Amino acid sequence: MAPAIPRRPRTRADAGRMLAAAVLLAALPGAAMSASGAAAPTPAATQQAPTAQQLAGFRQCLAGIRPQALAQGVSGTGFDRFTAGLQPDMSVLPLLDSQPEFTTPLWDYLAGLVDEQRVEDGRARLAEHRDLLARVAAQYGVDAETVVAVWGVESDYGRVFGKRPLLVSLATLACNGRRQPFFRGEFIATLQLLDGGDLRDPGIAGSWAGAFGHTQFMPTTYARIAVDFDGDGRRDLVDSIPDALASTANYLKRAGWQTGAPWGYEVRLPAGFDLSQAGRGKRRALSDWVARGVTRVDGGALPAGDRQAAILVPTGRDGPAFVAFRNYDAIYSYNAAESYALAIALLADRLRGGAGLVASWPTDDPGLSRIQRRELQTLLLARGHDIGEVDGMIGSNTRRAIQAEQRRLGLTPDDGRAGMRILRALREAGAGTGQSPLRE
Ligand code: CA
Repeated sequence: MAPAIPRRPRTRADAGRMLAAAVLLAALPGAAMSASGAAAPTPAATQQAPTAQQLAGFRQCLAGIRPQALAQGVSGTGFDRFTAGLQPDMSVLPLLDSQPEFTTPLWDYLAGLVDEQRVEDGRARLAEHRDLLARVAAQYGVDAETVVAVWGVESDYGRVFGKRPLLVSLATLACNGRRQPFFRGEFIATLQLLDGGDLRDPGIAGSWAGAFGHTQFMPTTYARIAVDFDGDGRRDLVDSIPDALASTANYLKRAGWQTGAPWGYEVRLPAGFDLSQAGRGKRRALSDWVARGVTRVDGGALPAGDRQAAILVPTGRDGPAFVAFRNYDAIYSYNAAESYALAIALLADRLRGGAGLVASWPTDDPGLSRIQRRELQTLLLARGHDIGEVDGMIGSNTRRAIQAEQRRLGLTPDDGRAGMRILRALREAGAGTGQSPLRE
């Protein structure tokens, strides 16, 4: 795939790339994504009707796409059926170019994506789907915990698929905006999936950029990677958990997954370690890192041998450090965002029974779990801020309300960030006025 084009299966990722460092997770699971959502403008949930002129241009554009779609195997009757009455939703266009108003620190992403709730839910899914996951592992060589961690980060185990009609968003972006060739490919891939029978519901919803289903694949990734694992003849990543989990494993296998190998470990770096040697692309033989004094943070032995390894220090010298192997790269390819790759890797470790990170993130204002985010929103609502519903998604409205409260309370920085400091301050303020904050 061309490097300039989002490669990740999911949209979110896509969106993340388009938005620069911040991942927009309108589609994201309530949670995590909250983290992501935090950095992006809150997308309008309502569709925006086109003008007559826009509609005429849209119909003309679709007519131009038709031959291309047919050349790629979509039937003429199928194309006509799935595009009949299709209207563009112009509200997706601003999302293409929106820039994050706030930055989200890595520890905020991880606090939402790898919270106790997601760990508990993931362990329950492991038990519930144990036989299925064993068959997936046998066929694709990817362990159950990794597959379930991807599922948890991508869609909160199937709870959050996105809210925008996929065909509408993709057709709009295929005919408007600055990434039309890319979205045209995704639109045609969606038509292929519908026309070929893998998908049955033309009204299927996803993220604004087109990721959908349990594993939030983009349509072209779906067309290329998805597998029919429940044997009903259709590759259905929306309504079939077996298909979705096996397809995730197939993605990782194709990305170079090494069966039985770890993704990496949290490590302790020797004093004076040259941070310029760190980075996902700066690999050395593991024995070389060991010779330089890198050790596992828990004192355990690093694997023997000369596998290629990179050192990651995502927040610099004062935060946790990691050694990452080939399987980390496979996870990274799923989303092409360091924060997500780390979230999946660390969630998988927790699902295996790990206790979590040993080193602390370099902040005195830790990030919030999803439960805590909802509590914070409840407190903001109680103070009269119009932030919509309590959903654990920290969007622009919530951040503006936080900023207003930070200023009112004299907290610095007044950056609108949802962290423990503002949560505690509002708990105390709420207690002082007789309001009863929701406790964890
Ligand atoms: Ca199937």
